[in-house]
Amino acid sequence: MSLASAWSELDLNAPGRQIGSIRVEHSVHRSAYGAIALPFAVFANGQGPTILLMAGSHGDEYEGQLALTRLIRTLDVTRIQGRILVLPAANLPAVMAGQRTSPLDGGNLNRSFGDHYADTPTGQIAAFIAEELLPHCDVFFDLHSGGSSLRHLSCSYADLGENRARAEKTFAALEAMNAPLSWAQAGIPAAPVAGRAALRKGVVHLSGEFGGGGALSHADLHVAERCVCRLLDHLGILPMTDAWKAQIPTRFVFNEQAHFTYAPREGVFEPAADLGDEVRTGQLAGYLHRPEYPDEPPVTLYFSGSGIVAVMRSMGRCQPGDCLFQLLGEIARDDILRRIGAMA
Ligand SMILES: [Zn+2]
Repeated sequence: MSLASAWSELDLNAPGRQIGSIRVEHSVHRSAYGAIALPFAVFANGQGPTILLMAGSHGDEYEGQLALTRLIRTLDVTRIQGRILVLPAANLPAVMAGQRTSPLDGGNLNRSFGDHYADTPTGQIAAFIAEELLPHCDVFFDLHSGGSSLRHLSCSYADLGENRARAEKTFAALEAMNAPLSWAQAGIPAAPVAGRAALRKGVVHLSGEFGGGGALSHADLHVAERCVCRLLDHLGILPMTDAWKAQIPTRFVFNEQAHFTYAPREGVFEPAADLGDEVRTGQLAGYLHRPEYPDEPPVTLYFSGSGIVAVMRSMGRCQPGDCLFQLLGEIARDDILRRIGAMA
């Protein structure tokens, strides 16, 4: 028996359906021995792989939270082969506040998986996920959206990493999810994100961006649920129902630095393109206005890359450095397979 600053009463090795919590110590004036109770569910039956499904890493991204809470309520554990760990509100204080970051410590959970874990509630949540959950997993699926400040076309995403065998498995799973946009590339090696923590533990990483703008969209929720159900089917954990079986067209996409447009100064953003548009380098992206100086002409912005408008800022007023657009470039499936084939 040992003590820890984060723990769960659920037994990861027990068969059946368990609904409970991960408790993260949070000692404050009104509660000296208090804890934050993150909702957590474990479903285990028979033999098969283990997957961690996570949402609410950012509290203002709602489609994943609803997809996973509905899964918890409806999943028949006797139908599965393997184990499903579900964390539907990973950064619970941020989820309850409807904010990207935690109101307790300002922590951004998906930037808390670096070389060391901060001694804060958000840091301790990251440590528990990386050190206590991921080592038990074969696959990690982390559901996101654009959050309050960005609207995002629904897409699946995978950090392919640098290991060929794992990248092949990852790409097969991404393809099986069959989202309208399938985004696959090797991520930034030193990024302090959950996906990199998964790769360090030898776990297949999958993610996705499903909507945004600080609101819930039924269409984006539908894509999130499609990806969850088709992934569980692909892994042999839970057969999908007929509703998800029809294939839809997907476009494979990638991202590079030239795909971003940032605000060069403060102002009101007037976009000249919309989500889903295809744009080219040098094309008009929009204007930045300063109504406080009515005589001043707006700054004209141009795209510095070509691709599909996948992300756009949902808030009018901007500060210098705010992301206004992000494009995704289309890439042939064979080109992704060639990149994977060149890995060690
Ligand atoms: Zn997010």
